[in-house]
Amino acid sequence: MGYVFDAPDVSSVAINGSDDRFPVRRVFCVGRNYAAHAREMGRDPDREPPFYFMKPADAVVDNGASVPYPPQTGNLHYEGELVVAIGKECKEATTDNALDFVFGYAVGNDLTRRDLQLDAREKGRPWDTGKGFDHSAPCAAIHTVDQVDDIENARIWLSVNGDIKQDSSINKLIWSIPEVIANLSGLFTLKPGDLIFTGTPEGVGPVVKGDIIKVGVDGLSELETKIV
Ligand code: MN
Repeated sequence: MGYVFDAPDVSSVAINGSDDRFPVRRVFCVGRNYAAHAREMGRDPDREPPFYFMKPADAVVDNGASVPYPPQTGNLHYEGELVVAIGKECKEATTDNALDFVFGYAVGNDLTRRDLQLDAREKGRPWDTGKGFDHSAPCAAIHTVDQVDDIENARIWLSVNGDIKQDSSINKLIWSIPEVIANLSGLFTLKPGDLIFTGTPEGVGPVVKGDIIKVGVDGLSELETKIV
């Protein structure tokens, strides 16, 4: 048996200190996981169960990538986020064992066609066109868990053309990393290669062609993306 055309390439993410790459299976994203961001989006950040959306695996692009300004939007937004990379099959994890399934952590940018997302939100429709477009998931090199120290209290920041736009801490997540893994793995059997974008802090905003976006989390490789 053969395929009727070439099978697609496997999307992958660089790994800090290694020539090998992390093959991407799925990309999960957590919505509204910082209270101040929920408020700026017009929502009450009271602790409701986390909710999720997804991006296709081939939306992932590397650090340094040039991302074309996507079609059919006039309001492309950045969202700097911590990304959790899953390394083992994980079903119904508990908050106590959730971190056992983590391969490592990276810095990501949940690029968003905000106008399409908000239009879908108001109409009760899925967010796919706002969130899951081509090149919408820049992700820097993954640092393996043994290379990461105290990620729960790391600073997270984002700049556009050198101006700081987002500046917060991972300890402000409404749903912590173990809580997200425990909840998500009760909905889906997580598999090696799954990425989880854990949500963005306040300060989201637009970018235009020519802008350079940098995202950092203390202790992890920075992510630089140019919009072209
Ligand atoms: Mn996001």
